[in-house]
Amino acid sequence: MPVIYLDNAATTPLDPAVREAMEPYLTDQYGNPSSTHQMGRAARRAIERAREQVGEAIDADPAEIVFTSGGTESDNAAIMGAAVANRKKGRHIVTTSIEHHAVLHTCEFLEKIGFSVTYVPPGENGIVSSEEVRKAIRPDTTVVSVMHVNNETGAIQPIEEIADICREQEILFHTDAVQAVGLLPIRLKQTKIDLLSLSAHKLHGPKGVGVLYVRRGIAWTPILHGGSQERKKRAGTENVSGIVGLGAAMERTMQQQTEHYKQIVTLRNRMLAVLTEELDDLQINSPEESVPSILSLSFPNVSAETLLMNLDMEGIAASSGSACTSGSLQPSHVLMAMKRDENCVKSVIRFSFSNQNTVAEVETAARKTAAIVNRLRRK
Ligand code: PMP
Repeated sequence: MPVIYLDNAATTPLDPAVREAMEPYLTDQYGNPSSTHQMGRAARRAIERAREQVGEAIDADPAEIVFTSGGTESDNAAIMGAAVANRKKGRHIVTTSIEHHAVLHTCEFLEKIGFSVTYVPPGENGIVSSEEVRKAIRPDTTVVSVMHVNNETGAIQPIEEIADICREQEILFHTDAVQAVGLLPIRLKQTKIDLLSLSAHKLHGPKGVGVLYVRRGIAWTPILHGGSQERKKRAGTENVSGIVGLGAAMERTMQQQTEHYKQIVTLRNRMLAVLTEELDDLQINSPEESVPSILSLSFPNVSAETLLMNLDMEGIAASSGSACTSGSLQPSHVLMAMKRDENCVKSVIRFSFSNQNTVAEVETAARKTAAIVNRLRRK
């Protein structure tokens, strides 16, 4: 049975053109970019080309791009690197209670070693107010981290306003833009964002490779030490084929951004239209200000776990609320922070779309979902 893949916020299928771009660096072009011979130089050139592609895509200087092993490493490096570099100035960090675990667990680790952290809650729509972030800032705050787009609800956060507040107060601002890149335009030179994380596998690129943008001149220190690869900002032999794939995926995504956005809006609207036709008590957890690729829905009185299993048996791949907690169905910290009731939290499913989905697929998925929900309720 062909799978209808509606879990694109977890990861996306590799674009065949990206795979083609990577191929030589998985086969003949195996040189280490730190070697000075021609094989090494070819690998180095490929990395520098990818750096330019990324810089172009997010309006940053190539020198501000650091390649990492993905969104998780970028988030860890951004927050730890900023906190450690500024520790003499202060030891307080501001973030939100709806961040990805790559941010939350990094902050919890920093708390264990003597930093203090304020976790700003969102409003009931899942959006964090920039004024609440302003209120959380203290004289000893050195870094603020607020995600661009939430991975469970798709809620878009007011990061440019928050970046402005941080710059006024000379505090570093980091944003996790993993779920935003490819859908929302990111023009870093026009913003006050100091650090930004992104990940290739959410953009039809390969897994295990990402970027940390580090604004030139900021007080930030690397967390991974060894050889002096990545312009002394991250050690270790680079994932050459992955970086080439990331560059190609970024270039392609940016070229197709407007068209993809429209296509994904159509998919989301169609899914919602069919579901609301067939079910009268559907709860939509994604706020109006959200990216169209992520649709968080609750089906009251149905367990998300049972629904997910039934969807899987029908060949539909989706996610539960707590989408990033490996294999387990822990209650979603995001919906709890939004003060949703227990019934809503227990019955949440995330459908997430990409340009590779079709209208026919989402219609089928919506009809099958409604049928399963009705069947489970009759039991
Ligand atoms: N941040 C967000 C918002 C994410 O959705 C993810 C992926 N689930 C990550 C960080 C981690 O990225 P990666 O899988 O590349 O480590």
